Amino acid sequence: MSRSAVFLDRDGTLIEEAGYLDRLERLVFYPYTVDAVRALNAAGFAVVLVTNQAGVARGIVREAFVAEAHDHIARRLAAGGARVDGFYYCPHHPDGSVEAFTKRCDCRKPGSGMFVRAAQDLDLDLSRSFAVGDRWHDLEAGRSVGARTILVRTGYGRTEEAAPRGRPAPDAIVDNAIEAVTWILRVAA
Ligand SMILES: [Mg+2]
Ligand SMILES: [Zn+2]
Repeated sequence: MSRSAVFLDRDGTLIEEAGYLDRLERLVFYPYTVDAVRALNAAGFAVVLVTNQAGVARGIVREAFVAEAHDHIARRLAAGGARVDGFYYCPHHPDGSVEAFTKRCDCRKPGSGMFVRAAQDLDLDLSRSFAVGDRWHDLEAGRSVGARTILVRTGYGRTEEAAPRGRPAPDAIVDNAIEAVTWILRVAA
């Protein structure tokens, strides 16, 4: 049977928002990051990281650094007994400066491309899955594939909460990713 997944945004959700993250020194875990992922692992969810990295298209972030950052995150999580099952990023932007990445794509959230690809790669049941993020576009992407959606108030979350994008509202608004995990475990039980 296909697995349920929790799609976690990266910047402002799983790790601190740092503008365009371009150096490991600026990659900061929240105090609950490892616990949040480990709890989802233990509950049997596939954990999928989905992140827009327009800094690549804008020439601010090297594409190789995105992989380096994800290796770093994977190692920090592994040290705490936690695991992300799939890392997905969109390096594109329609107004980029690096030609190879300057385009409209289906993977940049609110597009659903990363979610669909992960579902194929990892055999996921999107209708029994969840999307967690600090921006409305994270949740729009999740909703478009039938996942339930949770806005966190870290990163840009408080600002986004103050500027609702109309209906439908997210399924939950919580302070941070560990509260999102608590909510997911409760409703999925
Ligand atoms: Mg974010
Ligand atoms: Zn893309």
